[in-house]
Formats: sequence, C-alpha cells, structure tokens
Amino acid sequence: MIIRKSVQEIEKMAAAGALVAETIALVGEHIRPGITTAELDRIGEEHIASRGGVPTSKGYRGFPAALCISPNSVVVHGIPGPYALEEGDVVDIDIGVTLDGFVADSAYTFPVGDISDEAERLLETCQGALAAGIAQARVGNRVGDISAAVQDVSEDAGFGIVRSLVGHGVGRSYHEEPQIPNFGRPGRGPVLSEGMTLAIEPMITAGRPEVHVHDDGWTISTADGSLAAHFEHTVAVTEAGPRILTTSAVPLLR
Ligand code: MG
Repeated sequence: MIIRKSVQEIEKMAAAGALVAETIALVGEHIRPGITTAELDRIGEEHIASRGGVPTSKGYRGFPAALCISPNSVVVHGIPGPYALEEGDVVDIDIGVTLDGFVADSAYTFPVGDISDEAERLLETCQGALAAGIAQARVGNRVGDISAAVQDVSEDAGFGIVRSLVGHGVGRSYHEEPQIPNFGRPGRGPVLSEGMTLAIEPMITAGRPEVHVHDDGWTISTADGSLAAHFEHTVAVTEAGPRILTTSAVPLLR
C-alpha cells in the first residue's frame, strides 16, 4: 500500500528535508583530503542533534552510524570509519533525518579536490539522471516514467545502472512502497497521485553495474572496483508538480 500524505504531513517532511539538506551542505564543507569518514559522520550527527533531529540510519536494522558515507567504488551504505579521503576521490554522503515523526532522505556525491574527467562526467550524469527522474514525478504519471527517465540519461552517457538497489516511498517510515527502480519502461508500474512522497535515487557506475555486499553486511561496492555515484532527493507529488523536500544548499557541480 502506498501511503499518501496530507499537506500538513508534507510540510513536516519538508522540515526534516531542510535539515537533511543543511547537514549535507555542512558535511560537504568539511570534505578535503585527509579527513576521515568517521569525522564527517561525527560532524553530521552533531548537527542533526543540535536541530532536534534524529539520524534515521543509526540503529536502523543495526546500522552503526548516523550517516552512510561511501567513497569511490562503494555504491551505498558505507560505514564511516578510519578511511581518510584522498585527492581525486568521490564520496557519497547519504543522510536520513527523522523530525517530528517524519523522515526525509537525500544523498550527494562530492568530489574530493580535483577529480578525473571521467569521475566528473559520472557525477554530472547521475545528477542529471536524478533531475530527469524528478521531472516525471507528476500526478497521473507512473513509477515507470521515473525509472525510464533515469535509465535514459544514465545509459545515453554510457554508464552502468545498479539494478539490485532501488528508490522508495518515504514518510513515517524510512522505506515505504512503492519501490522505484532506476530502469524500466514508461507507462508501467503504480500510478502517481497527489500526496505521494518518493525518495528517487539513481546509483550508477563507471564500469559494470554488478555490486557485492561486504562481510560487514552493509557496505555495497561495485564488483569490478569501478567508481560509483549516487544522488537522491525526497520528492512530493503535488498538483503543482514535483516538489523537492530535501532542498539542497549544495551548489551544483560546475
Ligand atoms: Mg533512500
């Protein structure tokens, strides 16, 4: 069952989303060669707490940290730790915040210093795929319209699409129906209607699209070791069109 939200509930999600965006921007300001992912997690967690929020990931099915931090070939669900970022890395910061009973979820893949042209193109493509998906989050469209838009942008650029991980509904719970694959056919899947709130999150790779889960049970990496990118917004389907609830203060990639 897809849970539609009232106008008041969407405003609560937007408040959670603003805190997510603010936290991603703050963490982004600290990204530089030499900082560890554990330090970035601490900065993010402290900020969320200072604004009265709760990091949704912490303790979710046993996840041990507030933020998911996924460098380079790690696609998603990286556990913050002693790894120190290096010049040329890319690093995905994925944050869920619960505020006043509602969750918002967003992710942004940052460059660390100067990155390769290929890495830059990967990030730009993933961001473009997210924008194309969001543009389809309209009343009367279907989930497949979002999926196909994400797939077109990603594959036109020659990148792989991770099949085994998908976007999702979000609200009082971190993960609700429907699932939102990053590949699919237009006109298929559940019809979108007013009040649906969706976390749209393309995950693409510079190489093959297959992934594997590490022994920690969380970290998911590309099987071939190629770079991955991940961008995510929580979006409300409204009569006025798609509304991004995790409004980001992070500047777009140049
Ligand atoms: Mg998500």
